[in-house]
Amino acid sequence: MTAPIALFDVKAQQALIREDLDRRIAAVLDSGRFINGPEVAELEEKLATFAGCAHAVGVSSGTDALQIAMMAEGIGPGDAVFLPAFTYTATAEVPLVLGATPIFVDVEAATFNIDIADLEARIAAVKKDGRLRPRAVVGVDLFGLPANWTAIEAICARDGMFALDDAAQAFGASLGNRRLGCWAHATALSFYPTKTLGAYGDGGALLTNDADRAELYRSLRTHGEGKTRYAVDRTGMNGRLDTLQATILLAKMTLFEGELAQRKRLGAAYDAALSGHVGVQATPAGAENAYGLYTIRLPDAATRARVQAALSEQKIGSGIYYPKPLHHQPAYAAHHAGCIAGGPAPLRVSEALCGQVLSLPMHPYMSEADATRAAAVVIGAL
Ligand SMILES: *Cc1c(COP(=O)(O)O)cnc(C)c1O
Repeated sequence: MTAPIALFDVKAQQALIREDLDRRIAAVLDSGRFINGPEVAELEEKLATFAGCAHAVGVSSGTDALQIAMMAEGIGPGDAVFLPAFTYTATAEVPLVLGATPIFVDVEAATFNIDIADLEARIAAVKKDGRLRPRAVVGVDLFGLPANWTAIEAICARDGMFALDDAAQAFGASLGNRRLGCWAHATALSFYPTKTLGAYGDGGALLTNDADRAELYRSLRTHGEGKTRYAVDRTGMNGRLDTLQATILLAKMTLFEGELAQRKRLGAAYDAALSGHVGVQATPAGAENAYGLYTIRLPDAATRARVQAALSEQKIGSGIYYPKPLHHQPAYAAHHAGCIAGGPAPLRVSEALCGQVLSLPMHPYMSEADATRAAAVVIGAL
C-alpha cells in the first residue's frame, strides 16, 4: 500500500525550522511586545523586498487587507466594484460590508481568471445604467496564477478606477518578471495557514508603491490613528498583524524561495502528466504561477465525482474550489440581480467551472513522484 498524499500539509515544514521558531516565539514571550513589536516592521521590510515594491503593511488577515485598501479609497454606497464571480467569498464580502455594490464578472475557461472582454461589457453596462459609479476592479490571481494585470491596469487608468490585486492565493507569483505586489495600485496578501506563505493563525499584508496609500493603511489598521497615539483622524478598524504571527512568518520566509521552486516543479510534473487528458490551468505568456493550488477541469460533475472517489480510495486528498459561483450564494444573489437595469448578463463560464474543477495535492513537502501518482489515478478514473 502506498503512502497517503494530503491536499495541503501545514506541518512538515515545522521540522526544518522548529528550533528557530521556538527561539523566536520565546523572544516575543520574553519581550511582552505582543502588538507592534519590532518583528512586524522587520517582516514588512522583507515582504516589500521580496515583492520588489516600496511598501508593505502587515494586517490581521487577507480579508482585512482588502477592506483597508477599499476604505482608504473611500469606496462605499453608490460605488460599483468589479470582481470575478469565481473566487473566494471574501473578495465580494468586503465591498458589501462597506456599502458598495459588487458587480460579478465572468472568468476565462482556460485561466480561471477574470475575462477582460466581459469586464469591459459590464463596465459599459454600469455606465449606461447610470445608477452606480464604476470605482474599482478587484483582480484575483486564482490558485496562484496572475490575472491579466496589463489589461486591468489599462482599464482602470482609462476610467479613473482603483485597481486592487487580491493575491491571497498567489504570493510569490510574477508577471513579466515583476512579482505580484508591484502590479495594481495595491495588492492584498493572506497568511492563512494553507496559503503559499502561511502563518499559524490569521494574518495578511498590503503591498503598494504609493507612499500616501501605505501611510493611510497604517492609520486605518490602527483605528484611524493620526500622528500621535490618541489622535483619531479617520474611521479605521483594529486590523493589525500581531507580533507572534510576524515572527513566525519571518522564520518561514527563510524557506519561501525554495518552497516556491518546489511548487513550480510540482506544477510542471502535473502539467506534463495531465495535459491532453483533462483541462489544466493555462499559463499566459510572461506569467509565473505560485501554485497556491493545482486545479484541473473535468468534463462534468459526474466525472469529477468518480475521479474524487478514486483519489480518496488511494488516500489522495482533493478539494472543490469552488462548488458555487458567488452570484448563486444567498448572501450575494439579491445584490447581483439588482445592480444593472434589465438584469445582469449570465456568468456562464463561472457557473460551468463550479461543476468541473478539482484541486489536487499541492504543497512543497510532496515529491514530483507523488504528483505523477495522483495524476495517474485521475487519468485512470476518467
Ligand atoms: C484566502 C482568501 C482571502 C481571504 O484571506 P483571509 O486571510 O482568510 O482573510 C481573500 N481572497 C482570496 C481569493 C482568498 O483565497
